[in-house]
Amino acid sequence: MKSAMTNTNPESQAAATPPNFLRDIIAEDVRTKKYGDAVIQTRFPPEPNGYLHIGHAKAICIDFGLADEFGGKTNLRFDDTNPEKEEQEYVDSIMADVRWLGFEWDRLCYASDYFGQLYEWALQLIKAGKAYVDDLSADEIRQHRGTLTEPGKDSPYRNRSVEENLDLFTRMKAGEFPDGSRVLRARIDMASPNLNMRDPVMYRILHATHQRTGDQWCIYPMYDYAHGQSDSLECVTHSMCTLEFTDHQPLYRWYIEHLGIFPTRQYEFDRLNLTYTLLSKRKLLQLVSEKRVSAWDDPRMPTLCGIRRRGFSPEALRAFCAQIGASRTNGSTDIEMLEHFQREELNRHSSRAMAVLHPLKLVIDNYPEGPNPESPNKDQVEFVEVANNPEDPSAGTRQVPFSRELYIEQDDFREIPPPKYYRLSPGKEVRLRNAYFVTAHDVVKDVAGNIVEVHCTYDPASRGGNSPDGRKVKSTMHWVSAAHAISAEVRLYDKLFAKADPYDLEEGQDVLDNLNPNSLEVLTEAKLEPSLANARLEDRFQFERVGYFCLDSDSTPAHLVFNRTLPLRDSWARIEKKSGA
Ligand code: ATP
Ligand code: MG
Repeated sequence: MKSAMTNTNPESQAAATPPNFLRDIIAEDVRTKKYGDAVIQTRFPPEPNGYLHIGHAKAICIDFGLADEFGGKTNLRFDDTNPEKEEQEYVDSIMADVRWLGFEWDRLCYASDYFGQLYEWALQLIKAGKAYVDDLSADEIRQHRGTLTEPGKDSPYRNRSVEENLDLFTRMKAGEFPDGSRVLRARIDMASPNLNMRDPVMYRILHATHQRTGDQWCIYPMYDYAHGQSDSLECVTHSMCTLEFTDHQPLYRWYIEHLGIFPTRQYEFDRLNLTYTLLSKRKLLQLVSEKRVSAWDDPRMPTLCGIRRRGFSPEALRAFCAQIGASRTNGSTDIEMLEHFQREELNRHSSRAMAVLHPLKLVIDNYPEGPNPESPNKDQVEFVEVANNPEDPSAGTRQVPFSRELYIEQDDFREIPPPKYYRLSPGKEVRLRNAYFVTAHDVVKDVAGNIVEVHCTYDPASRGGNSPDGRKVKSTMHWVSAAHAISAEVRLYDKLFAKADPYDLEEGQDVLDNLNPNSLEVLTEAKLEPSLANARLEDRFQFERVGYFCLDSDSTPAHLVFNRTLPLRDSWARIEKKSGA
């Protein structure tokens, strides 16, 4: 017998399937064979007017993930009804991003493939007295629409004859009229409490070149006229979209019913909102076009190409999406939760390496100075064996050079240690990871009084990092051999926005005023252990005690560039913060 009370292990709790009402609906439809022997059909319908972001990853995991779970199929459909804002670059990036996330579509579809059919259906609705050509301007149509509290007013053109409507609509298509001079509207109900039902526009005149259909059309269907029928044409059984489309559902159903076509059902789920993050293609485009970030794939961007370049993995993103599930009310998710899933994954799978971001020279006075058997003019070198990933013995070990002059982090030495500071300071002994115990003695300063060198002695008996007499040290520090270090640029990223809610604005402010001015710090003097010279773009590293890093695409063999994916949690920083230091 199972008991709900016994599961106290946090890991197994996290592994339990989180609630997702969409899964429950599909499971029930499968159980009752609602669609007979047909498989579950879903689709992911991006408009190719920008790059995909983390919010789209949630939708992709729902559309593709749930279909996969129930042996169904998912189409990738580009809702390309707006030629002015859509581009092939976006189409290509969207396909690459869906695949990166780990999904493959059944059919690749475009709403523009249906332009001919949608036009035929518009004629059918006109003939049934369900659509009419309106000569009102866009402004006049808006004025006639009414408000949430007032009904709309009929257009004076609402009662045109079928013949006149057919004539005008075919001439709209033939290109006889200028942009904006006429529209085709559905003839539904100007007094409907749902504003989407007050004779919505179906077609507009737009003499624009479409990226796929060229100049074949000068009238284009509105998204709301194209979307539901596109679903229907693809026999989509479960059309899942975000909550803002809830009020559009009655309109989609109206078209489907009046055309007598396959009855796709729509289900709405909550949009992903992440703290410190904007998930709106329009705003992300603005960040790019105003050069507030370097590009769509700037590692601070919440785009899939951005977080990919930052070092995030599809596995972590999918695990995060599985955990957040789907619900019927909008909320906000802490960015730390996404970071947590990524850290877990990196902790298990990244290779460890030593890298010093703010180097300080450490000289071991009693370490033998030359001769080095390999190269007589250089100091002695020895190699210490280091585990590539303590979490995964199968990742093996590597040999890291150790010598008389090393680099350590500036933060790992204090001439006058504050309370609770356990790292290196004069007279204090610490462990150099996997190598030896060292005790600091003196410092060398430049004319300005900055410490440029720390001198220490080592205990040769502590090789490997333990002393035979059982002496304990309180700190273990990373290091890099100075003679062998490779120099690199390291880019440290922080949150792109300074406020948890970027839309928390003072009067007269724009959301971009909430950008975090310190979201990128570039370090040019980092010193890395030599094995990192062989890093490849897809490799993931934990720089020990520093954070998770990956190679950036700007990197060249002569100029290595690493991105910080995430910092490790730093207990010292927390102590410092708490004590107000
Ligand atoms: P944006 O507001 O970023 O422009 P959009 O909804 O206009 O997004 P579409 O290309 O229409 O972008 O989105 C494709 C699909 O992704 C839609 O089904 C939409 O509901 C879903 N989607 C978009 N943003 C989110 C989000 N933040 N969370 C979950 N799903 C989303
Ligand atoms: Mg949209």
